Amino acid sequence: MNFENTLEFAQKLDRTDPLQSYREQFYFPKINNKQVIYFTGNSLGLQPKSAKDYVNEVMTDWANLAVEGHFYADKPWWDYHERFSQSLSKVVGAKPSEVGVMNTLTVNLHLLMVSFYRPNGNRYKIICEEKAFPSDQYMIDSQVRFHGYDPKDAVVTLKKRSGEHTFRTEDILKQIEAVGTECALVLIGGVNYYTGQVFDIKKITAAGHAIGAFVGWDLAHAAGNVIVNLHDHEVDFAAWCSYKYMNSGPGNMSGYFVHEKHHGTKEIPRFEGWWGHNKERRFLMEPEFQPEPDANAWQISNAPVLAMAPYLASLQLFDQVGMDVLVTKRNQIVAYLAFIIQTIAQEVNGNFEIITPLNQQERGTQLSVFLHGEGKALFHYLMEQGVIVDWREPNVIRLAPAPFYCSYEDMYRFGQILKKGVLHH
Ligand SMILES: *Cc1c(COP(=O)(O)O)cnc(C)c1O
Repeated sequence: MNFENTLEFAQKLDRTDPLQSYREQFYFPKINNKQVIYFTGNSLGLQPKSAKDYVNEVMTDWANLAVEGHFYADKPWWDYHERFSQSLSKVVGAKPSEVGVMNTLTVNLHLLMVSFYRPNGNRYKIICEEKAFPSDQYMIDSQVRFHGYDPKDAVVTLKKRSGEHTFRTEDILKQIEAVGTECALVLIGGVNYYTGQVFDIKKITAAGHAIGAFVGWDLAHAAGNVIVNLHDHEVDFAAWCSYKYMNSGPGNMSGYFVHEKHHGTKEIPRFEGWWGHNKERRFLMEPEFQPEPDANAWQISNAPVLAMAPYLASLQLFDQVGMDVLVTKRNQIVAYLAFIIQTIAQEVNGNFEIITPLNQQERGTQLSVFLHGEGKALFHYLMEQGVIVDWREPNVIRLAPAPFYCSYEDMYRFGQILKKGVLHH
């Protein structure tokens, strides 16, 4: 499509956008009495207007039923977590029996590493990407130290070529092969948080399996953003937070995936609790743990229903729309944003380097832009003008136009504000 940097053209795209009505289903903050242009759905998604109803339902049931709400609430609490399986499995390409919701992301990855990082003899190394999200680095380092290893030796980071911003799949595969039988686990972010690069989950998972390692994925920036096929690609485990593209609310709960090939096997240990126990017998309070036959065996504590409620509200929207429609709009709106950035750069003679791959297979919703010659002053100007973006050192802004609620007109207006910001600083 030939894009145009005009308001009329942007509005024309909005009129044919099948997701246009969904914009109305989210709350937008206001700055100077105007609805913001929101580019940080990759950090904290906007609040669906239906979220409050879901929370209020739990509050009302609690008030009216108290403990009886576990069984007699409209959505009973004792198996509330199972309401996610069907819809969530579609978001991450899994079977309903392979997914669940519990805890928060880093906690879940630690718990899944109890099952899938069990160093043994010469096989003790973890492969992750260099400059992974800090929480992932802390988590991986502390896991290897917990098992008595030195992270300097036991953690192998995948490297980019010097001078390049993103990883090459062929290099990743070679580096995995080189670690070989010393590798116990490959654990990478499905979409890199800094550059927005999408990793080839299929090929990397196969490469990890070829050297006899388990392969897990942190899908924090992938869930609800890109198409993943966890089941078909034989991924061993995965986890993701729900407050980024999945709009569940600040610091909210994490989804997780355990491939069905690991269900019901005695070889895979885990840390256990009563919510993972055979649900028909859970309240008989028997001494011996009987695991659920599926991913629910990894559940530990009883479900924090109040936190789950807004996630369930948001998931209903994903269910209505489906990932394919989201991805189709995402591809177009991100391409339009890239066009706007490049057009404005020419108009103001600026140097904005998009470090995210522009190829649609290798990027999701986020564009990371290196602001050569422009600094934090421009970032502050954008924020003052009601453009919510985020800043990453040394000089990068990240722009994620979430397809659920961002409009093409937002992209056009952003371009005009960017232009003024560069000319005035
Ligand atoms: C956002 C994010 C996290 C955050 O983890 P929490 O445990 O939810 O605080 C972890 N890892 C990655 C890759 C992220 O993008």
